[in-house]
Amino acid sequence: MENINQIVSFVQEQFQTKEFIPLHEPRFRGNEKEYLLDTIDSTFVSSVGAYVDRFELDMQAITSAEKAIAVVNGTAGLQVALRLAGVVAGDEVITQALTFIATANAIAYNQATPIFVDVDLDTMGLSPSAMDNFLEEFGEIRQEGCFNKSTGKRIAACMPMHTFGFPVHIDELIAVCEKWHIPLVEDSAESLGSYYKGKHTGTFGLLGAFSFNGNKTVTCGGGGAIVTNDLTLGAKAKYLTTTAKKPHPYEFFHDEIGYNFRMPNLNAALACAQLEMLDEFVDNKRELASLYAKFFNSIGVNFRQELPDTKANYWLMCVELNNKEERDLFLKETNVQKVMTRPIWQLMYRLPMFEHCQRDAQSNAIFLEERIVNIPSSVR
Ligand SMILES: *Cc1c(COP(=O)(O)O)cnc(C)c1O
Repeated sequence: MENINQIVSFVQEQFQTKEFIPLHEPRFRGNEKEYLLDTIDSTFVSSVGAYVDRFELDMQAITSAEKAIAVVNGTAGLQVALRLAGVVAGDEVITQALTFIATANAIAYNQATPIFVDVDLDTMGLSPSAMDNFLEEFGEIRQEGCFNKSTGKRIAACMPMHTFGFPVHIDELIAVCEKWHIPLVEDSAESLGSYYKGKHTGTFGLLGAFSFNGNKTVTCGGGGAIVTNDLTLGAKAKYLTTTAKKPHPYEFFHDEIGYNFRMPNLNAALACAQLEMLDEFVDNKRELASLYAKFFNSIGVNFRQELPDTKANYWLMCVELNNKEERDLFLKETNVQKVMTRPIWQLMYRLPMFEHCQRDAQSNAIFLEERIVNIPSSVR
């Protein structure tokens, strides 16, 4: 690729520096300091506080979900969401192999096993047709739900992931899930600010979970949120993530094994300030995306753009290179020149803990694994 130097210069121009350019760095330009100091002045820095309540209301307003529950990180949110969808030890959960490790780990924390179904080339997320094909071969609907004929286990949930903030074909996935009697939980960790047909990601399935890790579109240091439109599940999520304690002014009574997955008020304060910036950040990133699109188009490189009917937050932007050799050269050259780039994740079944898991042919996931590279995507 003789145009790597051209690409490096273009990225340097956008970020107006020749120093190291990271993939995604946080920006604190709003009320972050004020709200953080406020928690210290109030002494409410820990697991209860006004900012936790406010954060949950803000998330409800942003996503239009009936209920949002603050949690300590996105992974914990996914773990509890799966449990609330009915996943128990010995179950199986359909997901994509092309994802960040947290998706598969959240399944394993419930003593369930992932089944890896291929992604679509256009969304880079779970493919409705691949899922239906898999179930036509292995699925069987019984009284207690959908079962996997080859393992005898129950397929208790399906968890698609909105890769890099590009929404999956969620309508079609929901139709397949309804056909096979499988609850859907969205890993929307990367997609805060992304919409499908005008509706916020994370709110299509039974539950969804977002992440506020340091590298996400908005951050609170570390944190997450579960969202749901089912108020009973919402109340259960709050209860389970706050140690399953029966409300009482001074007695301790817990009636099941819950979790301490509470988001500290300190982090919630940061989250509230960052959420105030969400629209501005997404607009800013979408502007960079359109500059990238024009530039990469002019040099014949495939810059990934949002699909019709969707609005992407462009969390991590990416290009699709022609083959693995070209990708490896691109990664090497750009990183040497201090423009950070990174390949998409290795497929989950290549990792020792998940190599035994059932999977289909994965031809699209492998194609993308060899070609997709993230490029600097921070708010400028
Ligand atoms: C970031 C992320 C998560 C959750 O991450 P936390 O660091 O636990 O907040 C889950 N799934 C995906 C796909 C992610 O990118």
